Amino acid sequence: MELDLRPLNLPSDNERPFVIAGPCSAETEEQVMSTARELARKGCHNFRAGVWKPRTKPGGFEGKGEEALGWMKQVKEETGMRITTEVAKPEHVELCLKYGIDILWIGARTSANPFAMQDLADSLRGVDIPVFVKNPVNPDLELWIGAMERINQAGIKRLAAIHRGFSSYDQKIYRNLPMWQIPMELHRRIPGLPLICDPSHIGGRRDLIAPLCQQAMDLGFDGLIIESHCNPDAAWSDAKQQVAPDVLDYILSLLVVRDEHSTTEGITLLRKQIDELDNDLMELLAKRMRVCREIGQYKKEHNMTVFQANRYNEILEKRGAQGSLMGMDAKFIAKVFEGVHEESVRQQMEIINK
Ligand code: PEP
Ligand code: MN
Repeated sequence: MELDLRPLNLPSDNERPFVIAGPCSAETEEQVMSTARELARKGCHNFRAGVWKPRTKPGGFEGKGEEALGWMKQVKEETGMRITTEVAKPEHVELCLKYGIDILWIGARTSANPFAMQDLADSLRGVDIPVFVKNPVNPDLELWIGAMERINQAGIKRLAAIHRGFSSYDQKIYRNLPMWQIPMELHRRIPGLPLICDPSHIGGRRDLIAPLCQQAMDLGFDGLIIESHCNPDAAWSDAKQQVAPDVLDYILSLLVVRDEHSTTEGITLLRKQIDELDNDLMELLAKRMRVCREIGQYKKEHNMTVFQANRYNEILEKRGAQGSLMGMDAKFIAKVFEGVHEESVRQQMEIINK
């Protein structure tokens, strides 16, 4: 199914991309207004703040609700910035419309839930407002597209997708794995759909914001949504990933925005995808080695030998056959697994000889 889209006309600031900036959460009137004023002074046109916060555990700060919408309205009146917030329930949509919110976004926990998405879509029927849909927390492109189809079928034509990374149980540098190939595939499937990157929730750390913004620009993203707080260390939610408005301004000033008409764009995008896939390969290999070391520990405790010929042959045969089915030369696959196996044995020996 195709999405029926109308252009969003995302305005960019001079040399800069389209940016939505603002705190993770609206905490107090003072915090909202002073962050907004600083951002407006730095030339920002779109202000974000979470009014209802989906928290992993009960007892955290769950947002100020309607009171905070009043502060958002004040931001719009005083600075002229467009105001955006997250909606998760039909009641939220209704209140946002009452307070003149300009753009709604749907969070990653909500877009993973088709019941919630349908309720939101029904509440948006007959309303003309841009809606940005974050990817679901799990790496499921169909679920993401399905969420946007529901909103689109309710008549919302000004849509955008926000890439905020995907959660994983493994230890990693990112709070949420970027898995860039997923938004790139979305772009291939629905070329007219604007893609916005959320480096704050992908990175989870201040020092990752700049490189992630640049990566998004290199991949041809249409804009960014970045968390910025007047006093990041004191933020009531996501403190580690928020940057002060002047730091955000500095990050944006260093961004190299690619010329999308450049003839090398195609190859650059493909090379970026290769880099990303190689990175995934490295992470998978490291994960495999970790498991091997655990096996090494087990073998040590149970007095078993490291090299077990049947197991090795089983792996080579199984992967060789799989390789042929996947259109790869069986000899090549054998070579790859020989190398992987050699390193796995070396890692196990290290554990056993410790
Ligand atoms: C947010 O933008 O503050 C937020 C809660 O994001 P996500 O839905 O991506 O976790
Ligand atoms: Mn946040």
